[in-house]
Amino acid sequence: MKIAVFVKQVPDSAAKITVENGVVSWGDAPLVINPWDEYAVEAALLLAEKHGGEVTAYSLGDENAKEALKHALAMGCQQAVLISDPALANADTAAVARALAAAAQKDGAELALFGKQAIDWDSGVTPSMTARVLGWPALSLVAAVPALDPAGKTIKVERAIEEGRQVVESRLPAALSIVKDYAEPRYPSFMGIRKAAQAQIPSWTLADLGISAPANTVETLGISAPPAREVSNEIITGDSPADIAAKLVDKIIGEGVL
Ligand SMILES: Cc1cc2nc3c(=O)[nH]c(=O)nc-3n(C[C@H](O)[C@H](O)[C@H](O)COP(=O)(O)OP(=O)(O)OC[C@H]3O[C@@H](n4cnc5c(N)ncnc54)[C@H](O)[C@@H]3O)c2cc1C
Repeated sequence: MKIAVFVKQVPDSAAKITVENGVVSWGDAPLVINPWDEYAVEAALLLAEKHGGEVTAYSLGDENAKEALKHALAMGCQQAVLISDPALANADTAAVARALAAAAQKDGAELALFGKQAIDWDSGVTPSMTARVLGWPALSLVAAVPALDPAGKTIKVERAIEEGRQVVESRLPAALSIVKDYAEPRYPSFMGIRKAAQAQIPSWTLADLGISAPANTVETLGISAPPAREVSNEIITGDSPADIAAKLVDKIIGEGVL
């Protein structure tokens, strides 16, 4: 069974993000694999180990996105492919979904795994939109795959929803977004890091994918930083814990917090 896992290169979550004149910057902070996508890679590897199959990691982006792919290779993915084309430089999610869907199709994948969302643009809809383009069932927020039958072409998953777990069965091929309950991502092995460092990662353009430049349906009109919050600190002192607690309660009520 061929499993495609989609990983995005994003600024480190510890980076200090600034926005000036609509331009987003994260200074010298490194770009890393989207943290949610490490869970998707782990899920893909576990499924391949249990049910047989090969895992290919894909990333849409510029040359820098190869670092995210190298991380996926170091974790154990067999192949990695960069999807890169100047026509995708300002792509919206619909355009990204069309390119990712074309890659899954070109590869003959039967399972497409995604993280639950990318920590930079945070739309969280790429998995469902890609599934829509493919005409595959979209199984979002998957926390476990209790059954998978590649021959019978069925899959059973547990979805992590606010109220608990929802168990659903679907046909294959299918697209899954993975949440962190699935399994803790493995650390890349030393051998894996060496293999990834030497890997030649192919790049596919839109022409390689057999699709034309997709027209954007959503235009970003502006982007700005949230207004700075005014924060002040006060240390409450008193003769005893009970005295401090009483003063704290008075403060909270006085400020109208309660
Ligand atoms: C320079 C630039 C310009 C942009 N301009 C626009 C614009 O004009 N209009 C607009 O609507 N959006 C724009 N975007 C946002 C862009 O469309 C989104 O990054 C993209 O649609 C994915 O959405 P998301 O990042 O919120 O991912 P989510 O939907 O939150 O991601 C969910 C999952 O999908 C997968 N995934 C997402 N992106 C990728 C990827 N690139 N490669 C591999 N897997 C991926 C990952 O598994 C991820 O965990 C721009 C982005 C950039 C970098």
